[in-house]
Order: sequence, then C-alpha cells, then structure tokens
Amino acid sequence: MLKTLKLFARHHFTDRPFSGPEHESHFKIERLSFSLSNFNKQLKSLGARELASVDYQNKKYPIYCLDFLSDQPNAKKLFIVAGTHGNEQGGLLGIQQILNHLAKNRTNNSVSVRIVAMHNPVGCDKFSRYNGQGVDVNRDFKRQQTTETQAVAKAFDEFKPDFGVSLHEGPQAGVFLYTNKYCDYMITKSILDNFSQANVQLATKSYLRNTLAQAGVFPVKGFFGGLLKIWTGTFGYEGFGQFCTRMGIPSIVIETSWSTKAESQRTYAHYTLFTTLLNELS
Ligand SMILES: [Zn+2]
Repeated sequence: MLKTLKLFARHHFTDRPFSGPEHESHFKIERLSFSLSNFNKQLKSLGARELASVDYQNKKYPIYCLDFLSDQPNAKKLFIVAGTHGNEQGGLLGIQQILNHLAKNRTNNSVSVRIVAMHNPVGCDKFSRYNGQGVDVNRDFKRQQTTETQAVAKAFDEFKPDFGVSLHEGPQAGVFLYTNKYCDYMITKSILDNFSQANVQLATKSYLRNTLAQAGVFPVKGFFGGLLKIWTGTFGYEGFGQFCTRMGIPSIVIETSWSTKAESQRTYAHYTLFTTLLNELS
C-alpha cells in the first residue's frame, strides 16, 4: 500500500516538475520508429484542421483535429485523443494506423469519429512527457490553463461524444485499460478478448505495481477511484479519464508497455482497441 501511495504521489502530485520538455531517461523508454515530420505529412494529406497552435523555440506546433463523420442518423460519436505524452510512441504509431483505417473506410461508417492527433506536439517532437513549459497537459482538464488542453476540451465539447479514448504507455509489462464507471464491462471484455486473440500480452500489474483483479483492466473505482477524487478535489489536477467521468460519458485510457522493444505489439494494441470499439458502438 505504501509503495502504491509513493508511486501515486510521484506520478500525480505535480503538474510541472520541469521548466521544459525534459527527457526523463530514468524511465528507460524504448523508442520506436515514430517521425513527427511523417506524421504531420499524413495529417495534412488527410485534410486535418488546426485547432490551435503552440510556439516553442521559434517553431510553430499545430494541434490537429480530424473528423470522420457517419451519415447515419443517431450514429454514436467516438472521441480519441493521442500524443498527450510525447515519449509514449506506441500510441503515436497506433493513431497513424487508426487514421489509415479511417481514410480507407470513409463511406458506410456507422460511427462518427473525431481525433485530436497530437495533444502535445512539442512533447512529441522532443520525446517528452511534458509540453514546452514543462507541464503535464494530462493534469490540466479541470483548470484548462494550457493551450493544448484548452484545444482538446473545446474539440470535445463541440463534438459531444458518446465515448472517450486516450492513448498512453507506461512502464508496466503488458497492456491494461483504465475504464471509468460508465464503461460497459462487455465492451472491455471484447477488447481484452481481441487482445488475447492477437497474442497481445495483458498486464497483471498496473504502473502503480498493484496487482490487477483481472489481467488487462484497471477499473477506476474503490481505493484508487477515491484517491483520484481527492487528487482532483484538493489539487485541481484532472486527466482525460476523469474529465470524461465529469462529463458523464464512458472512457478508456489505454496503457501499453513502453519498456518492450516489440513495436508491433505496442502499436497493434491501440489499433485493436479502436477497431473493437467501432464494432461495439455500431
Ligand atoms: Zn501517458
């Protein structure tokens, strides 16, 4: 319990541990083949629109948004945010696969999808968890002091999604999903089944090193849910998952393992989460 609390404190009780986009080499993150310039090319070729932009060291970094809308009435709306932490490249490669999928299947969509491709483009360029000012933008959903999180929250509010997803990685072995209280367990189960079918390793412990009651899933309730409530209530920090809970919609925050070199494992889990959700929300 003490270990969990200590780790929780290190990850959660500061939103600005640095003054810029630091590397944090102690995390021992395996870098993948992500290229920011290739990603920007892909985004432009898909007609991405600029939600906002941030400046860092005289360079402009746009925050891009893409819509793939269904023409079916009452189609469910899925909102995905990627690139929140720029040193988690499994999610960045995952969102590129997801975008390729959506671009190839622009007709007969039964789900409307909005994607904010890079929540933290400076971090993505500098291989950092933090933005240009050293802020963890995934602590900012309540106060919305950063341009980055203001842009994501605005895109979310305008879209009025039925389901929210955020793509992440962490130091644990294998993948797990943070699910909020609105997330239907049958959806979680389908995703885990599809992970197992594709031989994606499920985490048995979260990054907080607590043993998961069920491999691959960390429902945000009970002790940890209580901690998060205190965290948000006292310090005003709020991540995307808690933001979705406050907005009253189901959310999944996926955490693949940044310590594995297996690029396909890390990337594929994000893509599989997406394709399973498309099926489930259809
Ligand atoms: Zn993250």
